[in-house]
Amino acid sequence: MTTEIISMGQAASIIGFVTAVFVLYRILVQKKDAVIQLLKERIAEKDEQIAQLKDRSPDALASALSDRIKISLDEITRLKSDGANQDKQIESKENELAEIQARLGSLSELIRESDLVCPKCGNPLSGRQVETIYGGRDGEQEADILINNYECGYSVADDGKELSRCRHHELT
Ligand SMILES: [Zn+2]
Repeated sequence: MTTEIISMGQAASIIGFVTAVFVLYRILVQKKDAVIQLLKERIAEKDEQIAQLKDRSPDALASALSDRIKISLDEITRLKSDGANQDKQIESKENELAEIQARLGSLSELIRESDLVCPKCGNPLSGRQVETIYGGRDGEQEADILINNYECGYSVADDGKELSRCRHHELT
């Protein structure tokens, strides 16, 4: 009789314990799902922003990408410090990050090779203008030249003629 009461009590506390663990587990899983969902939404949002950024200055594009890398790093750190079984998610985040870094790398390369930044100091293009020049014997021949102006003051025509200097490279 006594042993039966004790085991009933034990059974009740075991059921109580299991229920508590299960509830805790559910809360944790829901929290993880919410975090992963949030990450997915954020990545989709960033992809959209990157698509929009194609029309914007190389500066904004590069800084948006480095922001994204920072956010991804923060998220990875957080997921890791959570200590839960998020290995798969972390791995896919890390793969994604590597991909973004590769994209940023090739983008930086592209920007450097393009005329979007000053070839001397790397400052961004501030604007372009077209000027018509006249030549020939009677000044009757005309040609349009494209001039790139950079934020550092550097200005160059499309025939390679330097029209004003880069203030960061006064000596060159
Ligand atoms: Zn410059």
